[in-house]
Amino acid sequence: MDIGGLETVVANSAYVSARGSVDGAAAATMRDKKYRAKLNLPHIRECESMKATVDSAFDSMCVRQPIGKRLFQQYLESDPAHKNPSDLWKDIEDYNIAQEKDRANKAQKMVNKYYESSSKNYCSFLGDKAVSRVKEDHKNVRGDLFKESEQQLLVHLEAKTLAGFKESMYFLRYVQFKWLESQQVTEDWFMDFRVLGKGGFGEVHACQMKATGKMYANKKLNKKRLKKRKGYDGAIIEKRILAKVHSRFIVTLAYAFQTKTDLCLVMTIMNGGDLRFHMYNVDEKNPGFNETRACYYTAQIICGLEHLHQHRIVYRDLKPENVLLDDAGHVRLSDLGLAVELPPGKDKTQGYAGTPGFMAPELLQKKEYDYSVDYFTLGVTLYEMVAAKGPFRVRGEQVENTEVTRRILNDPVSYPPTFTKELKDICEGLMEKDPEKRLGFKNNECAELKMQSFFKELNWGRLEAGMLPPPFVPDPKMVYAKDIDDVGAFSTVKGVVIDNKDTDFYTEFATGNVPIPWQEEMVETGVFGELNIWGQNGKLPADLDP
Ligand code: ADP
Ligand code: MG
Ligand code: MG
Repeated sequence: MDIGGLETVVANSAYVSARGSVDGAAAATMRDKKYRAKLNLPHIRECESMKATVDSAFDSMCVRQPIGKRLFQQYLESDPAHKNPSDLWKDIEDYNIAQEKDRANKAQKMVNKYYESSSKNYCSFLGDKAVSRVKEDHKNVRGDLFKESEQQLLVHLEAKTLAGFKESMYFLRYVQFKWLESQQVTEDWFMDFRVLGKGGFGEVHACQMKATGKMYANKKLNKKRLKKRKGYDGAIIEKRILAKVHSRFIVTLAYAFQTKTDLCLVMTIMNGGDLRFHMYNVDEKNPGFNETRACYYTAQIICGLEHLHQHRIVYRDLKPENVLLDDAGHVRLSDLGLAVELPPGKDKTQGYAGTPGFMAPELLQKKEYDYSVDYFTLGVTLYEMVAAKGPFRVRGEQVENTEVTRRILNDPVSYPPTFTKELKDICEGLMEKDPEKRLGFKNNECAELKMQSFFKELNWGRLEAGMLPPPFVPDPKMVYAKDIDDVGAFSTVKGVVIDNKDTDFYTEFATGNVPIPWQEEMVETGVFGELNIWGQNGKLPADLDP
């Protein structure tokens, strides 16, 4: 074996072993004690001033932020007056992630307990309509059976309990955690592992947060290369969008910071490689996926697109290469560098962006366009997943981009005889040249698309909850990335001088910890539990005792 090959073997084994040990509680064994010790709650005296400024809107603090929500729920449990709504909330969450076979039984118990006026736990704050609908419908194991009840429950909790929570010691604990969250972590908090891939401005490395043991991917953007190639706008857009979206179908940003040479985006690590790799490089004699597998990935991609579109973001660069697998075989969208956010009140955008062979006709014609371009690229992606070639190319053909464009604008797509009718129908609906007629995002959701017969076997509720088992599970011992030598090096950037305007930009970029993913990390790795200690018999713990 040559030296380069050896380097890959050594780097792979360090990375595989770090990765293997971070599931749940085992992460604790991988922590660096010195850094873990830096994650400590301050005494309340040190952070009391934040009480007035901290994010305390009900929905954000008590529902969306994982630590805020846990502390709010602990508060509810501490007061017998809130027992019914508190128990109902837990039961609804339990129901939502339950297996189908257990749902009917759970729903029946909940109806008896909370929905019958004769029950001592009757929840009178639920509206008559919501109550009768659940009672009528609970034998069908619908995923959204309690959706309306949950909304009403949250309205009730906000009105009746938010003020009390903010007077309680649980809120002080929330303030302590927000203080800790606002302490910026820097480069030295992360241990770098092998390179996973190469981007336009730098490498992406596997890394481990030393204090918690959690693995992430660190996308580095070289400052000089960014400046030379005018990448500032793209970088800030990608950062802003990644920090804003929270979906299990899109990679999440957890930290944004800078080093002397780079801007860094620390995000969900996707160890399973990209779809392109799986289509063509895993079984070279038999490229592409069967329809069941393609259907599963397409469904997860749709959930990702729907989330982006609900946040007014056009992705523009959907293709197999940008869809990444995690350890379990679930996929997420990545590489949001070409995405664009539609400002309020403006429903179309313009501009040439995307990858040849994927771009929608209206975009190629330089017209204004909207989310519909992403459903065209979805059609191209789905077609390629099964056909193992793009719809506008002959297999192995070298072809000019102008010819591909001409075909996209003019030619009908021809389908291999192996495609089922359901697959062909949905591909045609997605690759419809007229954006008005194309399948896609309507009335703020993808309901019509999800109801296509191609998905008739798919349980969307379970898929959206992350509970539908993936069709393929990556090998935990395998590294789905190129050998280190094959990743390719960057040439050095010459003739770039960094001035004050640049450093201002770096500061704007390096916003530090992103609240929701940071809190998720603390909860998931057990650090939250270790820090959230309460006194005996209702006495205040020392760090909250004024
Ligand atoms: P660029 O926008 O510069 O093209 P990408 O975001 O596509 O950069 O990242 C470059 C490569 O790094 C990807 O093709 C992929 O191989 C790898 N990569 C990117 N993000 C992740 C991630 N979250 N987990 C694992 N690998 C990743
Ligand atoms: Mg890329
Ligand atoms: Mg990019």
